[in-house]
Amino acid sequence: MIIVGIDLGTTNSAIAYMTDDGPKLIPNSLGKTLTPSAVGIDADGTVLVGDAAKDYMVVHPDLGTTAFKRNMGTDAKVSFKGLDYTPEQLSAMILRSLKNDAEHYFGHSDFQAVVTVPAYFNDAQRTATINAAQIAELNVVRLINEPTAASIAYGYHESKDAKNLLVVDLGGGTFDVSAVEMFEGVVDVKASFGDSYLGGEDFTHVIASEILKSKGMSFEEMEFKHPLMISRLKYECEKAKIAISSQDNAIVRIPNLDGAFDAEVTPENSFKVWREQFEMWSSELLERLRVPINRVLADSSWSVGSVDEVILVGGSTRMPMVRNLIADMFSIEPQCRLNPDEVVAIGASIQGGLYADNKALKDMAVTDIAPFTLGVEVSREFGNEFKPGYMLPIIHRNRKIPSSQVKRVSTVYPDQKEVVVKVYQGEGRKVSQCTFLGEFTIGNLPKGEKGQDIDIRFSYDLNGVLEVEATVVATEQTTQHIIASKTRGLTQAEIDESIERLRQLKPSPRDKARWTALLKRAERQYEQSTLEERETMDAIMNVFEFSMMEGDKSQIEKVAKRLDFFLENGYDLNTDEDEGEGWK
Ligand code: ADP
Ligand code: MG
Repeated sequence: MIIVGIDLGTTNSAIAYMTDDGPKLIPNSLGKTLTPSAVGIDADGTVLVGDAAKDYMVVHPDLGTTAFKRNMGTDAKVSFKGLDYTPEQLSAMILRSLKNDAEHYFGHSDFQAVVTVPAYFNDAQRTATINAAQIAELNVVRLINEPTAASIAYGYHESKDAKNLLVVDLGGGTFDVSAVEMFEGVVDVKASFGDSYLGGEDFTHVIASEILKSKGMSFEEMEFKHPLMISRLKYECEKAKIAISSQDNAIVRIPNLDGAFDAEVTPENSFKVWREQFEMWSSELLERLRVPINRVLADSSWSVGSVDEVILVGGSTRMPMVRNLIADMFSIEPQCRLNPDEVVAIGASIQGGLYADNKALKDMAVTDIAPFTLGVEVSREFGNEFKPGYMLPIIHRNRKIPSSQVKRVSTVYPDQKEVVVKVYQGEGRKVSQCTFLGEFTIGNLPKGEKGQDIDIRFSYDLNGVLEVEATVVATEQTTQHIIASKTRGLTQAEIDESIERLRQLKPSPRDKARWTALLKRAERQYEQSTLEERETMDAIMNVFEFSMMEGDKSQIEKVAKRLDFFLENGYDLNTDEDEGEGWK
């Protein structure tokens, strides 16, 4: 059985497979290895995919669509000719096209696939990707994170020396950074962070918008009034952007309001973009690249100097300013030995090959990380009052998976008969800021005082199957709940096998965890903080909320100052306060 690797990108998609001579890309019907993730509907109703759709869209911007990957997991539909298309259906058309290319190449359809997704994709986005594959009648063995795939691609060519790698992926619409440790063929993703609204498209947009500005026009207004002109201009700007990655300047022809080009290129209907100028226009975008990079370094407790190599992934990393930024930040030349827009598909195909051949899997163990925090809702005690709605994280974002973790909670009323375990995912401090995954009830609790202990165990595996097990400590009564369907439809046998494997793992305990505007600001910042920052922040926020409930103004002021100081400076003024655990 062949297991192909598919990079279902925002801008471009690619498919590869493993041969005895290593990974190979499968060409599309045009002989190209990259298929634009674009879909259009022709005048006669025919579906156009790839380059055909991309070209068609330049002329009929209203009859085609791209970058729908950004809407995966939502019900944002696109409509052409009175018919609606979901992001899943559009993605399925891309997958179907890649599948056809492979069928043509192999001469049969006896193959399965490993499909890649951005590391920060949540359950809904991953489920949507699986759904797209199902619609395309493509059998998906597993979803793997794009930076994991890129690391595997490099690992395949790598020596046995231990190395700390930073994978920097700037594609057409997304930016993704990951800290990866490699040694002895083991790929270990330590941390990952991204920006789903930052990519090559934004750099193209900067050129188009600056050119229009120089001609006294606004991009937004023109896009609304003259969509054809804008789609043609953007196409020209993308060409120029790519050209100035390897030359000093490029000429952008500016179409007239009807979208037509004049026969003759004049200073009025063209613009010469210099690389230096483009880099100036892009300074804000470039600054934004630093944010996820710094976050990943913090999350993985890596200093700049502990990064042995930076791997460039994604077509937009071909821009010299991106390479220079990386070189400046790390004082090393970033690596780009493999083609940056093909490396993800290549890695996925290597992973596919490993699945097809179980022996090889042992030679190259791959661990992965949880892309988001998983936890349960708890009440917290403030004085004599319990307030529900708090997220108790059990498996943290960026924790290695498979993972099994236990947290002890306890009842809040005397003679409490039952406890409802509500499971959430997300980075919020309160469950209202997280996504609800499922719930179950533990009944028949023994009579007695409040404070009956219940152990909640979360076991999360590489396929995204979450097993939640609640054990009443006094009676050893256990209730189990499996949340799997959200991520993919596994067979019971696969689920049972995963559970059994996870049971072998040892749990490691951890974790402790702010007037209204300050509290809101802290909550917003909390979601963007590192694990370490979160712990301190949570403790101060507890004291703050408690003092707000107590109503002692001078105490509130004191804690508010402390919280404000932390938000501004990232460290705590006083650490001698007795916060207590507060988890209930
Ligand atoms: P994705 O992962 O989002 O599907 P890719 O990795 O294929 O996308 O990157 C596509 C982006 O890379 C596009 O925005 C394209 O304009 C840009 N790109 C490709 N080649 C170059 C180049 N030589 N210089 C600058 N940008 C480039
Ligand atoms: Mg990509």
